[in-house]
Parts: sequence; structure tokens; C-alpha cells
Amino acid sequence: MKDASPATAPKTFYLKDYTPFGYDAESVHLTFRLAPETTRVISRIRFTPKPDAADRTFFLHGEELKLISAKIDCQAVTPELVEGGLKCEVPGAPFTWEAEVEINPADNTALEGLYMSNHMYCTQCEAEGFRKITYYPDRPDVMSTFTVRIEGDEPVMLSNGNPMGQGEGWAEWHDPWPKPAYLFALVAGDLVNHPGSFTTKSGKEVELNIWVRPGDEHKCAFGMEALKKSMKWDEDVYGLEYDLDLFNIVAVDDFNMGAMENKGLNIFNSSCVLASPETSTDANFERIEAIIAHEYFHNWTGNRITCRDWFQLCLKEGLTVFRDAQFTADMRSEPVKRIEDVIALRARQFPEDNGPLAHPPRPEQFQEINNFYTATVYEKGAEVIGMLKRLVGDENYYKALKLYFERHDGQACTIEDWLKVFEDATGRGLSQFKLWYSQAGTPRLKVSEDYADGTYTLTFEQSTPPTPGQPDKAPRVIPVAVGLLSPNGDEVRGTEVLELTEARQSFTYQGLASKPVPSILREFSAPVILERESTNAERAFLLAHDTDPFNRWEAGNALAKEVRVAMVLDGAAPDAAYLDALEKLVRDDAQDPAFRALVLTPPSQSDIAQTLFDRGHTPDPQKIYDAAETFTQTLAQQLETSLPRLYAATTVDGPYAPDAEGAGKRALNGRILSLLTRLDGGEQAARQYQAADNMTQQYAALGALLKAENGEAQSQAFFGQWQDDRLVMDKWFALQIACAAPEKTAATAAALTRHPLFSMKNPNRFRAVFGALAGHHAGFHHASGEGYQLLADNLIALDKLNPQTTARMCAAFQTWKRYDAGRQSLIRAQLTRIAGTDGLSRDTTEMVTRILDA
Ligand SMILES: [Zn+2]
Repeated sequence: MKDASPATAPKTFYLKDYTPFGYDAESVHLTFRLAPETTRVISRIRFTPKPDAADRTFFLHGEELKLISAKIDCQAVTPELVEGGLKCEVPGAPFTWEAEVEINPADNTALEGLYMSNHMYCTQCEAEGFRKITYYPDRPDVMSTFTVRIEGDEPVMLSNGNPMGQGEGWAEWHDPWPKPAYLFALVAGDLVNHPGSFTTKSGKEVELNIWVRPGDEHKCAFGMEALKKSMKWDEDVYGLEYDLDLFNIVAVDDFNMGAMENKGLNIFNSSCVLASPETSTDANFERIEAIIAHEYFHNWTGNRITCRDWFQLCLKEGLTVFRDAQFTADMRSEPVKRIEDVIALRARQFPEDNGPLAHPPRPEQFQEINNFYTATVYEKGAEVIGMLKRLVGDENYYKALKLYFERHDGQACTIEDWLKVFEDATGRGLSQFKLWYSQAGTPRLKVSEDYADGTYTLTFEQSTPPTPGQPDKAPRVIPVAVGLLSPNGDEVRGTEVLELTEARQSFTYQGLASKPVPSILREFSAPVILERESTNAERAFLLAHDTDPFNRWEAGNALAKEVRVAMVLDGAAPDAAYLDALEKLVRDDAQDPAFRALVLTPPSQSDIAQTLFDRGHTPDPQKIYDAAETFTQTLAQQLETSLPRLYAATTVDGPYAPDAEGAGKRALNGRILSLLTRLDGGEQAARQYQAADNMTQQYAALGALLKAENGEAQSQAFFGQWQDDRLVMDKWFALQIACAAPEKTAATAAALTRHPLFSMKNPNRFRAVFGALAGHHAGFHHASGEGYQLLADNLIALDKLNPQTTARMCAAFQTWKRYDAGRQSLIRAQLTRIAGTDGLSRDTTEMVTRILDA
């Protein structure tokens, strides 16, 4: 047995140190003898020395394993146990390695490797969990075929690939596609399946199953349809077909991530697959459809072509996020999806890119790779691909992708391989574009303009602030989509993509009758921060007239931010012209309800804080909160006479269906209800709560009532109705915190941690409470510091059980340098306390150190 947490300083790994493993793993046979506390894993692996290997060290990763025996070619050997694994003398010719180890799934609260969730065995191996199952070269560039035998008395026992046979107490599986160990999966337990099938374009019949705990069968139909749509879409758009006879999805309650793309056996956090109208909101349905697509799309972008090492994580994740966004845009509304993605990018990625945790989409060093499953790797990684597609054009993009699949199928690849297919397919050099993968930080794009004698000039200056380890940065290639409008609202120049490559660059338009109004960065064509002098009148003009839906929303969003900033800084009243513009838009039934709902959604308070900080002010969270409250109250009063009609007009009649159109209408209806509640104290919300036959409306009504501090009865009723449903209870926990007044937020969260249904061991429940706390800007950053202390107390406690989730939640503190000296010293004290905890995990140590070092 090896101690997994040596007292030495954590080791740093560097991209530049990459060396291939000296052996090929030709085939892997695994036998599992399942027992909750004493599972035996017997491995038999055929290794062949690589003829050209520079390093022939035979090192196998292994953590928290009890080695029972080891053999080479049937002869017992005694390997040397070293930190993080073992070393052994091996022959210079092909040989068979055999080992038997014992592991304890019941004791595995970190949820990496083989663990138990509600009496069910399941695995999570990405990134480095397989080394907690057996000794193995646990690195993505070692790919092999796996044959797995599972012995145990569980009714259902699953692994990757196709079933080979089963009998009383055993099942055997074989996956013919070589894969890295991080894609290995095993599930065993009392499960029932929701079956389906799909015929691929070449006529192959694929059996589909969603496996759930008994009682959850009625929540699988939507996920199954989403899976079939994904399979069809990937054939239609990318020409990619599924490659096994069987595709299994399993829902698991205790899971650190959203879902995992293990070959042929996807494992899902139950929150990301189980859905029913009564228990899931429209947002849940959309997210589930997207995540099922994402994991399915990984079969090609991730599994068939994987990453050479974990520094290349964005090779599979950026591309797969990009593909799932394309899918959602096709299934639903393209502009709405784009706006939602940009809101999420600004909420999650921008703070990361502009703070102590900033790193490039392809990081060059890490201590714990689990800390790099970030918004930068995923979402910015996807933005980079979106820019690439815009620069080379659609036709060239699909040509390059075709070449990527032809050239690299079955390989473990790098960002260099990825960019090379684009260079070869298009003849275009991408060395400057590659900076997007190596430079951290969000570029600022300063725009100035000039008009004389029919000629209009736009001048762009790009710069990127320093980030940890990167003080200076070279100019990047930035595609800026621009259109021009005439003062009467007509479009005088359609969208054109300007390609910035220099620090300062000008573009000229000729023959314009009057000075145009520019619409810059249409569709958010690059993940940058635009800095341009503008007026509220011009923003209101674009909100009314821009032909690009994203930029119409963006103009409204910028206006909303300016109005709030003025309210915070000068104590100004809400801008009357903006209120009029909003009223006009909300009452315009010709406009898409989903779009109107998005325009009515206020900018996040954290976003306002960042804007203030960027302009040299110290943000006061309470003032930002008060400005938001005042604004919403004023808007409600302004709309008073139209609200009842709007509420009625946006109420969806008939049975609930989770389609985009209904969801858009319900989103607007929810916003109207929250405004109405400010005037009637909750009368309409109470009626809606009573009548609701779906979670979207029930949840919206409960939220409005809790916000009005008039929802105690409904909150109790909600608990009574749903206390046996784990996923709905997560909503109940989160909503009470999200709706609390700032001075009560921490106390509300603290009380909920004492609730009998609170559990440190379930990541969903922990995130429901502490994600809501950290997401309540004024509550978390309340001057008392109670929010900081409560989160720190619980992170210290969770770290002993689940380092991965603890480390990720430390990011709540990443924006600490924005705030005043008092708050900074309160946060520093908590971070220092966490860092000084005895036996703190490698994961959390790395995160806290990076945040503190800023
Ligand atoms: Zn993924």
C-alpha cells in the first residue's frame, strides 16, 4: 500500500518535457472480482518495446493500490514501488505483464477510479483515475484494446465495447477500438434500462440504452431522443458514423463532472441526463440535450482521435464544445444559443482569463491536471475554433476536418497536428493564429473611427494585459465581423470579416453618403473586450435597428451596463431613454420571445463589478446590488399597465413540451412574473405556483415568491412534494440562497448545511449550496466576511473527501483583487487558512497558491 500524499512539495509537469512511453501496450485483459471494500483487479497486458525509444524505463502509474502479486511471462517478479507507481526490470523483447491488486471502492470518496455511488460500482478515469484501479502506463498516448471480465453478484455489469458473454455472476466485454486508459469504464449494480435503437447511414443497427436506478425509468425518454438526434446530426454535418453495435449511457448520482465519454459506455451525472416535465426546467432540458450530444460527439473528437498528453486537452474539448454548440444552434435558435454562450463565457471564462488563474487554452505546466478542466480550455478552446472557421470559411473548415479524421484516426495528437491539417487543406499559414493556443488573457480591442468626404475609417488597436508568467504578448490574428448602418437604420454594408494581424490597423470604406453607425464584432466573432467610445443614444439605435441579432442584444446589454454603472457611481436615476427602449421592445409582440427575455435579463452583478474595476473604480457589491434592485423596481413600475397583458400573452397553453419555442415564451413569461411580483407582492406568482404542471413554471413562481420574501409556505410545500427527488432537491437548496437578501445569504447557506438532506459526499448537493453562495455576488462578498468564512470552512472539510471538487470551487475567490482593502484582507485570511490546513490535497494546494500569489 502506498501513501498517496507524500509530504514533499507537489511536482510540476511541463509540456516541453514530453517523452513517449518506451513500450506499446498491444492488448489489455482485466478481471474484476467485485467486493465493496476488497475488489481484486487482475491485469494481463502484452507489452512490446518500441525499437526507437529513447527512454526504456518501465514505469507504471499506480496510486492507492495494494499490490498482491506481479509476474512477467508467468514468472513472479518484485517491482520497486516508487512515488506514484512502480518500476520493474523487463525483457528487451515482447512480454506479458500480470499483476493482481486490491482496491477499496467503498472508501473512495474522491470519486476517481472505481468507487461506489448508492451501492452501485462505477468508474471515472479521466484524467488520471485509471492508476487508482491498477498499475498501468496511465497516459493518453498509450492506446490499447481492452477485454474485461467482471465477476460479482450485481444484476447488471457493463464495460466498454461489445458484450462477449455473460452468465451467473460474470460478464465479459471486448472493445475492438484501441483506446487510452482514461476512456475505460465499468458499471455494476441494480439498474434498469430504457432501450432504443439507431440505424446508421450505412445501415448498421445500433442498440442504445440509458441505464438508471429503478424508479427513474420515466426520466429517460428525452435523453434517448437527444442521443438519436446527435447520432443523425454527426452523420449529416460531419459525415461521422458510430462504430460499435451498442451505445450505453448510465446515470450516476455521485459524480464530479457533468458526464464522461468512455468508449461505448458514457457515464453521466444524473443531473445531466434524467429529465421529465414535472422535475426539469427548460434550461435543464436544453443542457441535457447539449451534454448528451457533447459526449456522443467525443466518439470521434476525443476517442478515435485522442490527445497525446493532457496539455492538449483543448484539442478534444474545444472542438467538441464547438461541435455541440453547432448542434444546439441547429436544433434550437442560432442567435439565442450564441447569446447564451457569450453570457456564459463572460461569466466564467473572462474572470479566469483576467485573474490569477489565467492560462492559455493549451497550458504549458500543471501540478494537478484536474485543475485545468476550465472554461478557458473548454469554452475559449471552442471560441478559437469558431475564429478559425470564420477565417478559413465553411467549405475549407469541413475540408480540413475531413483531412483530420482521415489522417489521424486512431492516433493521439497535438495542437500542431490540428493546425497542420488546416494549413494543408487551405494553403494558409497559421503560425500567428497559433498564439491563441499559447497566450493567456483576453485581448482588448480599442476602436476609433473617422469620417470625411464619403470615406469611413475604422482603426483597431489590440493589446492583452499581463497574465501570470506572460508579461508581454505579441499581436494575434483577430477576425472582426463588421457591418455598417446608415443613420436611418438601413444596412449600408453587410457583414464583412476584417482580419486584424497587427497591433494597430485601419480599414477603409468608400462611397458612403453619410457617417455610418458601425456594428462591430457581429456574432461575437472573437473572444475579446471591445473598447469604443459610444453614446447611449447610439446603443439604443443599434438595439432597435442592428440586423445582426447578437449585436442587437449586445447593444442592449452594453446599455444596461452603462445605466447601472452610472447609478452606482453617481447615484443617478435609471436612464429614462433606456427604460423607454426596453418597454418598446418588451411590448413588441413581433419580436422573438426568447430574444426579449434575454434583453430583459440584467447583466450579472459580477460583470458590473469587473466593468467598474476596469475603469479604475473599486466595486462595492452592496451598491451594485441596490442599483440592480432599484432598476428592476423602476422598470416594473414603468411597465405596470402592460404587465398583466404581457403575462397573459406569454403564458403557454396546452401540455408542456420542452421545445425551443415554448421555452422562449416561458423564459419571457418568467421575467414578466418577476416584475409583476414587485408590484403585487406575489399574488400572481402564488396562483402560478398553485396551477403549475411543470417545473419551469413552478420554479419560476417559487423564485419570485422567495425573492419577495413571501414564499415560506410554497417553499415548504415544494419540499414536501419533492423531498424524495434528489435533483429537484438540489434546486430547492440553491434557490433559497440565490433569492436571499445579501445580509442573509451566508446565514441561509449555513442553515442549509445543517439540513438532514445536505451531504458533503454528493458533489451535486455541495455545488447546489456553495455554487449558489459564490454566485450571489452581494451575498458572498457581504462586508461581514461571513460568506468567505463559510465557504472556506466547507472547502477545508470537503478537501479530505473530494479534492477535485474542492479545488474547482476555490475559483470563487479568484476575483478577490477587484475589491476594497477590507474585503481583500478577509479573503486573504481565508485563503491562507485553507493553504495552511494539514494534509491539504495537491489539487487544492495548487489552486489556493495560484490565487494567493496574484
Ligand atoms: Zn468533453
